[in-house]
Amino acid sequence: MRFSGQQVLVLGLAKSGVGAIHLLRSAGAKVTGSDSRKLTDLPDMQKLVENSEISFTPDRETSLDHIDSIIVSPGVPLTHAIIQAAKHRGIPVYGEIELACEYLRGPILGITGSNGKTTTTAMVGHILKAAGVPCQVGGNIGFAATDMIATATFLQWNVLELSSFQLETIDRFHPQIASVLNVTPNHLDRHGTLDLYAAAKGNIFQNQRSGDWAVLNAANSISSGYTTAARVARFGGDAANVNGGNIELFGKTLMPISAVQLPGQHNLENVMAAATMASLAGASHQAIAESVATFNGVRHRLEFIREFRGVRFYNDSKATSVDATLKAVEALSGPLWVILGGLDKGGSYMPLAGPLKQKAKSALLIGSAAPIIEKELSAHVSLDNCGTLETAIHSAVNQAQPGDTVLLAPACASYDQFKSYEHRGDMFRQLVEAL
Ligand code: ADP
Repeated sequence: MRFSGQQVLVLGLAKSGVGAIHLLRSAGAKVTGSDSRKLTDLPDMQKLVENSEISFTPDRETSLDHIDSIIVSPGVPLTHAIIQAAKHRGIPVYGEIELACEYLRGPILGITGSNGKTTTTAMVGHILKAAGVPCQVGGNIGFAATDMIATATFLQWNVLELSSFQLETIDRFHPQIASVLNVTPNHLDRHGTLDLYAAAKGNIFQNQRSGDWAVLNAANSISSGYTTAARVARFGGDAANVNGGNIELFGKTLMPISAVQLPGQHNLENVMAAATMASLAGASHQAIAESVATFNGVRHRLEFIREFRGVRFYNDSKATSVDATLKAVEALSGPLWVILGGLDKGGSYMPLAGPLKQKAKSALLIGSAAPIIEKELSAHVSLDNCGTLETAIHSAVNQAQPGDTVLLAPACASYDQFKSYEHRGDMFRQLVEAL
């Protein structure tokens, strides 16, 4: 194994750094931990150091002498001075995915993309489980790849959601099935240019061989344009496509579009991607069709909550950008009552003016962004500044007619009134369920 007998520096000692240290130690590496925080602020580390299991240096004093490789935690940017110095000296720098894959038994199905990663990854896991194809799901979706090692087997798929940051630091990581769902401008503050961002995502294919599969999106020019040694299956193309009212998969009718529970054209793309990958991993058409029809989506992503007095309620708290809100408005048929607002992120809300004018009876505003949204949209859409989520829901319920839809898709961050977008979505669910 690559790290046994090596001197490895683990940079960043939060949860994933601690996981990396345990993994490296059991693999026979000599480990030094480093963090900008003091050892006294890192109780887990302190114990390891006291038992002489690892050594610790504050990151400004860290020396790279005798270090063979560095494992960097996801929270540490690659511009960090130690990483730059390591690159200068030719010391390899790896992330958590590269470390995990060294020890992860079983085939890997890796999914990345600008949008739809979590939905598609969860759907692939849902289909494979229903189809009786052994799998475990993790990565960026919440269960770290290093935590999957203990439960991995040679015959079980490891279905991994991967971010571009995780793919920046791979070397030998080799998925047997890999997909870049789509690439649109995102995270350019950290990657610099669209080309560099697309290249980081494209790393997912770099170790694939002729027997592997690359699953590309025919409708997205960057995804469709990747070159790879693997066989290529295109969704929205030769592998899966929409024909009339049906989805077809590898030349056979899979299911009617009307049986898909998730709303919106973008979710149809996610279904085609997930069905293609699940089929390549061994799921039958019948199992795919049945399980897609029972997949209700992932929490906080256009999640259907309930119908109350003929009014449907959707939670899209993850829609923290204007772009994501537009997707949600597009996906649902009107008339809509859209809850907007929270912590403003500095962009313009104007792209919402046309679609809201067309579909929404009113936008119910919450949080500190309300005056900014009012200033931009009041000439185009009926607005109601409600202040809080609870008031917004009650205002919508009091005015909505049967057949209307209430949509939480705030186009803003949540931190002014909530701990996170999950907290905001959970509050929405609780308030709607209590109606
Ligand atoms: P990610 O994990 O890539 O952030 P999610 O599955 O969590 O993606 O979806 C986040 C939001 O992105 C959704 O609420 C929806 O607005 C949008 N979205 C989902 N799938 C797609 C897609 N295939 N294309 C464009 N936008 C999408």
